[in-house]
Amino acid sequence: MGGETRTQRGPRSDYPLQAPKPVGQLIHNIYKDRISQFYSGGQYEHQNLRAMMNEAVVSGEPHVQLFVWHAPDQTRPTFKNATSQEFTKTKVGEWFGPSWTTHWFRVILKVPEELQDKRLLELHWDGNNEGMVWNEDGHPLQGLTGGGERVEWILPDSFRDGKEHTIYIEMACNGMFGNAPGGDSIQPPDPNKYFRLDRAEIVAVDPDARQLYIDIWIIGDAAREFPQDSWEQHKALKTCNEIIEAFEVGNRDSLKTCRKIAEEYLGSNVDSAKVYESGKEPLVFGIGHCHIDSCWLWPFAETKRKVARSWSSQCDLMDRYPELNFACSQAQQYKWLKQLYPSVFERVKKKVAEGRFHPIGGSWVEHDTNMPSGESLVRQFLYGQRFYESNFGRRCQTFWLPDTFGYSSQLPQLCRLAGMTRFLTQKLSWNNINRFPHTTFNWVALDGTQVICHMPPAETYTAEAHFGDVKRSMSQHKSLDQDATSLLVFGKGDGGGGPTWQQIEKLRRCRGISDTVGLLPRVHMGNSVDDFFDKLERKADSFVTWYGELYFELHRGTYTTQAKNKRDNRRSEIVLRDLELLATIASIKDKSYKYPKKEIDDMWELVLLCQFHDCLPGSSIEMAYRESDEMYSQVFKTAASVLEDISKVLGFSQVQTTTVADGAALNTLPWHRKEVIDISENEAAVACGHGPLLKLRTLKMSEDMPLVSLSQASKNVFVLENDQLRVRVEAGAITSLYDRTAEREIIPKGQKANQYVIFDDKPLYWQAWDVEVYHLDTRKPLQSGETEIHEVKKHRASLITKTKISEKSSIETIITLTAALPGQQSHVEISSTVVWHETMKFLKVEFPVDIRNTEASYETQFGIVRRPTHYNTSWDMAKFEVCSHRFADLSEHSYGVSILNDSKYGFATAGNVMRLSLLRSPKAPDAHADMGTHHIRWAIFPHQGALSHVTVRKAAEFNSPLKLASAAAAAPLADLSSPPVYLTPDSSEALVLDTVKRGEDDEDVSRGELPVKKGRSVILRIYDSLGGRARGTVVTTWGVAKVSKVNLLEDELEEVALAEGGRFAVDLRPFEVATYKLQLA
Ligand SMILES: [Zn+2]
Repeated sequence: MGGETRTQRGPRSDYPLQAPKPVGQLIHNIYKDRISQFYSGGQYEHQNLRAMMNEAVVSGEPHVQLFVWHAPDQTRPTFKNATSQEFTKTKVGEWFGPSWTTHWFRVILKVPEELQDKRLLELHWDGNNEGMVWNEDGHPLQGLTGGGERVEWILPDSFRDGKEHTIYIEMACNGMFGNAPGGDSIQPPDPNKYFRLDRAEIVAVDPDARQLYIDIWIIGDAAREFPQDSWEQHKALKTCNEIIEAFEVGNRDSLKTCRKIAEEYLGSNVDSAKVYESGKEPLVFGIGHCHIDSCWLWPFAETKRKVARSWSSQCDLMDRYPELNFACSQAQQYKWLKQLYPSVFERVKKKVAEGRFHPIGGSWVEHDTNMPSGESLVRQFLYGQRFYESNFGRRCQTFWLPDTFGYSSQLPQLCRLAGMTRFLTQKLSWNNINRFPHTTFNWVALDGTQVICHMPPAETYTAEAHFGDVKRSMSQHKSLDQDATSLLVFGKGDGGGGPTWQQIEKLRRCRGISDTVGLLPRVHMGNSVDDFFDKLERKADSFVTWYGELYFELHRGTYTTQAKNKRDNRRSEIVLRDLELLATIASIKDKSYKYPKKEIDDMWELVLLCQFHDCLPGSSIEMAYRESDEMYSQVFKTAASVLEDISKVLGFSQVQTTTVADGAALNTLPWHRKEVIDISENEAAVACGHGPLLKLRTLKMSEDMPLVSLSQASKNVFVLENDQLRVRVEAGAITSLYDRTAEREIIPKGQKANQYVIFDDKPLYWQAWDVEVYHLDTRKPLQSGETEIHEVKKHRASLITKTKISEKSSIETIITLTAALPGQQSHVEISSTVVWHETMKFLKVEFPVDIRNTEASYETQFGIVRRPTHYNTSWDMAKFEVCSHRFADLSEHSYGVSILNDSKYGFATAGNVMRLSLLRSPKAPDAHADMGTHHIRWAIFPHQGALSHVTVRKAAEFNSPLKLASAAAAAPLADLSSPPVYLTPDSSEALVLDTVKRGEDDEDVSRGELPVKKGRSVILRIYDSLGGRARGTVVTTWGVAKVSKVNLLEDELEEVALAEGGRFAVDLRPFEVATYKLQLA
């Protein structure tokens, strides 16, 4: 027989079987859902990864001893004060409150022997409210959030000695978002909330379990969020399921196996910052941030503690995470920290010096930009940048307003003039009508100045650093044609907090995915916001452009809510302008008079703080407005005393009555004025001139021909008339306003001006913030009662009308016409007293005018913004309520009507109807917003010609009425009857000399923050108010040695030629804001 042969009987037994058993495809939704079950609470929490998170936990005595002292009322005592008090024993499970109270805990920790060698020991403290950990020496160490968030404090190694160690915890009885009842955080705070201390325990954490938790969270996100037609998604799903299968509860080694599997998806470097060293080109730049509203659902007083809690936490995280870079804005918050928490400030300062902690924004607070005056915006930058420069040695390059409600059109110019060329925001992603079309673009101011603007495509400034945030940084990027990079601004925010360790760990894994698997845009850490913009700047010439305001299509109610606050803002801006002008004059006139720099700084800082983007807009709780009321009253009190000092130096005093011979009128506006002024109960005079003190002269009139007449035409119908205007008032409304000079009727036939209208005002959600487009459909005109004669004098006549709004609310309106002086355009003045106790109603006053234009004009900072009067497109319609400063104007080619106001910001012009917004009545977050009595003034100002300097000046005059003064001696009057500095009469009338102040660092003015400059100087700010090339000549009687054009920070830009007699030329481009420094001889 030969060799063996096989007989072929049936199938071969060694047939290469690839799958020894049936194999099915993963059923995606089920395998996906399984992932979160692996680490979630609930029925499996004792059998899944959660059961392995800690190696041991001890609580109660003798390891954790707790003692407490309750601070009285709503006080927030210092560490020293608190720790010197008598503490009593307490325990976990106790309740602490009520809302806004403070409780100090002495915590004595003793680590049991069996825990002393564990890998990671933490104190877990959860009082369900905010807290601060202090060491025994009184240094704040780290903030605590509560409710399961930021509850860990790592025990120092020195605590592993088995001895007792003491720390303190300062408990604040408020959550991160204040004390709202229930789940709706914008409802007014519940004053009676109590907080249970849930946990105070020493925990030995298993670091492997903790890391695995983050691993599977992020790979799970890849499985859930990558598209199903990508292999990367399938691999993520498979990896997660392999991890779950490798896990054995109770077996700590299995955690290491699971992590090894995770490495296949994440790479091997996610446990350290090394993950960022792959050298591959990143697209998404993560920057830690912590948005702390300076007040909002909590008072300003609490914010001071939020800053310390948040920033000490960040310093602590930076020590553990070398890649963490953190940007934070608001100089005011740094100043609070410096004053109240010097050791945290020093810690921050060190991190700033290391280049890890980045002061950003360049402004005093993250302010509103709709309502503050131009000069206020300037001061936000001046005070902000000076603080940064004097404390950290450098200014900011990026203006940072992620959360402010819309951005006015001059910001790019002011930004650049304050040393910043970049701007970051994202709030426009909240638009609820049109989607803003760009992510990265050049933003162009009214004057043509540009800055680069970036709006992070993740569309948040409080990103959780989720996988999805990184993914959206690409998928929602709208400027990919030009540049694909973006910023990812992450960290707990609004109520403070900042990045958490979880967020930093998640980003490491996102980077790991990009480098190992791909598909996810590559995130990078360790850069600054400035680094990011530096790269953008190089390509800026290719970016798309956006001209004019970044109008925010939401929160339009914020132009009106909290009327008193807005009125105080307007008044304090005017008061500060007046004071600086007069103090400048006084300090140059009399060297022994010290320019009140400290008082001025203190006042400005309060005013700037109140312009914070939840304060001035009206979106804070009642407590915050009690605080801002106090701040404003401090401003007015200081102002009164400073003015008193100034008037002594200048030799005048303010009086209630005087005579033509002895009196004068105090004027702070920079042009020639001629107005009627009351000098006693029954007498009036004409004040005329252009200096700080105007001389008075007799008002010429004859008995037969009064300057104003008032007649009754029929019951409830009156006619007021002066040389220029004839006003017919029927049942409180103006049914005719006839311009006698132009021979033109202004009110369309059958329509009523100064007609009050009321609207239902129930926005979709954000009550104090929003007025929604549908409120327009609920318009109801209010019927007025009887009109009566209020006053008939030769120089003035007025009518008074009562209007009932409801059983609880009413208006008393006085319509006044004053004698028209030749050469001065006359106006109809309305002053109202509104008793307001409504709920979710919006009160406005309307003016139908016989004017046709598709655009209306509104005063904005240092200029005018034009907006449509029609609803052609959704972009036009979105502007159904807009912000306006002292005037709004609807003009044709040769004629127009301006509506002036003394304290309002909301306006609308639809067709030919102009509508001034007066009062709202939202009930959240302040249940009593705007309830009470309001005094509001406005005026109808018809004018020949288009919108011009006549309106600009009239609006300023309406806001700065002349004040009666008496000059004891003739000398002051002679001295001050001509201004020491002015624009010559042949200068362009569009030019406004807005601000006169002393140089910040003059040797007799400086408070020493920055290097003192020799000699004395005066700063002038001049702008073109109408939008055209504007030339003029400045003349001054002060001895001037040198003039230079400077920026807002008073850095010299270029020298200006000085001619004989202290003259120099100004030549501004349309809407340019120019600042000049006059160095005195
Ligand atoms: Zn905010």
